[in-house]
Amino acid sequence: MEPLLKDDFAQSKSKTGEILGEETEGVNQILPHMNRWAWDLYIKGAANNWMPTEIPMVKDQQSWKSKDVLTDDERLVIKRCMGFFAGTESLVSNNLMSLAKWITDPECRQYMARQMYEECLHNHTVVYICDALDLDVNEVYEAHINIPAIKDKDDFLMASTANVNDPHFETKTIEGKRNLYKAAFMYWIICEGTFFYSGFAMLLSMSNKIPGIAEQIQYTLRDERLHIEFGTKLLNTMRAQYPDLMTDQLEDELTQIMQRAVELEVAYAHDVLPRGILGLNADMFLDYMQYIANRRMEGLSMKFRYPKDKNPFPWMSEKVDIKKQKNFFETKVTDYQSEGVLDDDF
Ligand code: MN
Ligand code: FE
Repeated sequence: MEPLLKDDFAQSKSKTGEILGEETEGVNQILPHMNRWAWDLYIKGAANNWMPTEIPMVKDQQSWKSKDVLTDDERLVIKRCMGFFAGTESLVSNNLMSLAKWITDPECRQYMARQMYEECLHNHTVVYICDALDLDVNEVYEAHINIPAIKDKDDFLMASTANVNDPHFETKTIEGKRNLYKAAFMYWIICEGTFFYSGFAMLLSMSNKIPGIAEQIQYTLRDERLHIEFGTKLLNTMRAQYPDLMTDQLEDELTQIMQRAVELEVAYAHDVLPRGILGLNADMFLDYMQYIANRRMEGLSMKFRYPKDKNPFPWMSEKVDIKKQKNFFETKVTDYQSEGVLDDDF
């Protein structure tokens, strides 16, 4: 029998490359590549393998026990960040499972399956840190109910999850496609792309006192950057495939969502940093969130920008470059990364 040629695949009638096709069940036909960008991101994600339990927590445990090392304010930051991540990382996994019913392109689904696995690692990180520091599990896992600034962020995100799970949700009409676009914007751009960043910056600013937590956050951040890149490309591809999708009204609505997200994030920073901690205060997060929001809107070719476009934490880009830092500190090499994918500027 003759081997299959590329052209045989190209004649395949069952693959269109459409992001929101009709077929929501069935086989995942990867080839021929029609959304190669999604496949490439899957390969990059796979090259970033890591495991929370490989990272030693001895120094963090010592710091947690000593009143001289961590102040009460710093402890509050750690507990609140864990509380926020405990709720939201699990929400991200659930959102992906809901969206997987509607995003039918096989290469996008391949990436999303990989992302779900990475979100499992992020959930594992919270469990591992709770165990290592013997944190009050109820305090961490019920923060999304009991801490108003966290509850507000989670309620804001969950409203859009409810839409996708509504029995009347559909993606056949242009209105339905707009609703899916809005949900995807909420998940990848607001939740992962905006809400996570203040927590990352707060924990990474304490790297020397809690190196184990900080290292796990660095790996998480490296994963999240690919998630955001995927979400941005997914949204842009949808926009190209369905030219009627984007309207001035939808862009206004998404811009307002982004502005509300920045407000919620700044309120959260004030709650978590009532007096500031070494080198950080809540007002810096206003600048940071506006800077991040500008990058996200830019990625989606939307018009809105905050006028003050300044990154108060330029050191965040160093923290993302794990390999460079490892060489610098000569610590245990747990970096599986085999190709250079860290070229973003924040
Ligand atoms: Mn995550
Ligand atoms: Fe993520």
